[in-house]
Amino acid sequence: MNIITIIGARPQFIKAVMVSRAIERHNKQYPSQAITERLLHTGQHYDDEMSAIFFRQLQIPTPTWNLNCTLPESMTEKIITILRQERPDQVLVYGDTNSTLAGALAAHQLNIPLIHIEAGLRSYNQEMPEEKNRIIADQLSSILFCPTPKAIDNLRKEGIIHGVFWVGDVMFDAAKALSTSCDILQRLCIHKPFYLLTIHRAENTNHIERLMSILQALQSVSTPIIWPMHPRTRKTISENKSLQELLFECRSIRVIDSQGYLEMATLEKEASLILTDSGGVQKEAYFHKTPCLTLREETEWQETIIAGSNLLVGTDSNRILEGIQNPPDSFMPISDFGDGHAAEKIVQIIANNNL
Ligand code: UDP
Repeated sequence: MNIITIIGARPQFIKAVMVSRAIERHNKQYPSQAITERLLHTGQHYDDEMSAIFFRQLQIPTPTWNLNCTLPESMTEKIITILRQERPDQVLVYGDTNSTLAGALAAHQLNIPLIHIEAGLRSYNQEMPEEKNRIIADQLSSILFCPTPKAIDNLRKEGIIHGVFWVGDVMFDAAKALSTSCDILQRLCIHKPFYLLTIHRAENTNHIERLMSILQALQSVSTPIIWPMHPRTRKTISENKSLQELLFECRSIRVIDSQGYLEMATLEKEASLILTDSGGVQKEAYFHKTPCLTLREETEWQETIIAGSNLLVGTDSNRILEGIQNPPDSFMPISDFGDGHAAEKIVQIIANNNL
């Protein structure tokens, strides 16, 4: 069997590493059923801090193709050209980014069966580009791997019931298997206690007033706040003087570059509180037992709210400060994210499914 896996953004590199490694193990164990996987990197995330570091650190093989394509409009056409030449048996996409959408549309155009990992997630916020991407990817997929039982329910509500599997979350696999601690605290002289902040979602970075409101809340916090800044957020701040001035007044905030996976996992484990608008970081906060305040009004990861580790505070200053004063403090064990072997289950199902 011959698969082309389409990746392009930071969280996809992390998810793909688990599945690619499981494919390698499968091929050693069952050579007669070997799966040939080749990686296609769209180039959506392209620089060292958002892309190359993950390939180096997680030893991801160099992609067979790199489209160097940051614009969603031209991505689909470029992927179609490659798929038309290569005619893989299946195309594999992850998550909800522009690369996911482009890969799904390209496979659909050429009638190549599509596999979607992290299917069925919904925020029910139609304004999020990610929500639109994941709905289309789910509608076009032949095999849908859901990270949680709730994702299965979401798909059922939309009438998608065939080819749907609950396997667990490959990011939980990654958190268990990869996130050994590293020396970032010593290297950057970060002392405990500290909070960890990440902001990158368009719904926040494209609304200056929301970023202002988050920073206004953090202005009065005395605990040091470490902020690995996403390039998109850096760009927004660099273009807005009021944001720059406000950030300067937030004496507790220390901005650092976006980090590699191991550095980030260490920061998440050692922080006493995480403030984030990232989907992956909300879950990792739960996996690493660090309380989390989510800087959004909704989450695709309701399980973390039910488990008691995560609180939705949006971007309102008062709600953020209330959250900091009364952080969530429960880490109810739940099995929704699987047993840390989602990737093996995915590979087994792919190998047994002759589409
Ligand atoms: N991450 C990272 N370095 C950072 C920030 C995040 O390695 O500086 C990791 C994080 O640990 C998680 C993933 O990136 O595994 C989450 O990706 P992101 O926040 O970009 O996207 P989302 O999960 O919201 O789709």
